[in-house]
Amino acid sequence: MNACLGTVFASVTALAMAVPLPAAQQPTRITVLVDAFGAPSALRQDWGFSALVEYAGKRILFDTGNDADILAHNAKTLGVDLTQLDFVVVSHRHGDHTDGLRHVLKLNPSVPVYVPNDEYFGGTTPAKFYRRGVAGLPAHMRYFGGKPPAQVPHGTPWRDANFVLVDSVAEVAPGVRLIPALGHAPGTADIPELSLTLQTPTGQVLLVGCSHPGIEEILRAASATESPVRLLAGGLHLLAMPEADIERLAGTLRDKWKVAEIAPGHCSGEPAFSTLQKAFGRRYRFAGLGTAIEL
Ligand SMILES: [Zn+2]
Ligand SMILES: [Zn+2]
Repeated sequence: MNACLGTVFASVTALAMAVPLPAAQQPTRITVLVDAFGAPSALRQDWGFSALVEYAGKRILFDTGNDADILAHNAKTLGVDLTQLDFVVVSHRHGDHTDGLRHVLKLNPSVPVYVPNDEYFGGTTPAKFYRRGVAGLPAHMRYFGGKPPAQVPHGTPWRDANFVLVDSVAEVAPGVRLIPALGHAPGTADIPELSLTLQTPTGQVLLVGCSHPGIEEILRAASATESPVRLLAGGLHLLAMPEADIERLAGTLRDKWKVAEIAPGHCSGEPAFSTLQKAFGRRYRFAGLGTAIEL
């Protein structure tokens, strides 16, 4: 079932109204289930990203990795029960974040899966593809005989998934927000992406998948100036950025955006790991495969 956020606002509100479990014994942490670096272990490294977020009694799967079998193996090895999920968030359409959906949906066919408002997850086909008609063409050479319907549903490989398309900032559980963003640079302008924030007494935790829109664009969308980021974790997509630019960005994140701690992973890139570690010193948190980042 696919639905735009506006039309399912009632169910989002219902989720947000869910009564949290007692505060005691509630872990607050992010556990990295899929990534391509980390200390040697029985876990299988892979290019991609997936993390289990435990917060205020909620269990949230953020991204699903690059390979359903590897997600299943790593979750089992870490003792993470993927049958117990409140909801899933898929940051964007790329295969290294979506393949594990096959495994997750097998275990939880009806779990809500928040996705960007991207035709790849269903929704509607953009009208620009078929609405530019030529009146003189015979009807059988015109799309839909020259009378296209108001909306054309867009197919998706996960047609049965309980997708919730998100196109504006949404609080989907108490203290948990989804932040949509879209880049402007060539190559990223058509990849909408969702990031996730957790409200904590010392500021917000911002978890990002690939940061295709650009990390500063995501920080802006998350209102990071008004609500300081206590921890920025996930993929920063700085793989191809020249090292001098990475150094500048590291300073900007630390000094302009006042990011207190940083835990880069996935597509951040080895040059960024090194530069950010120097820039943040003791406020750099290692987030390799299998790491539980306690909040
Ligand atoms: Zn990507
Ligand atoms: Zn990726």
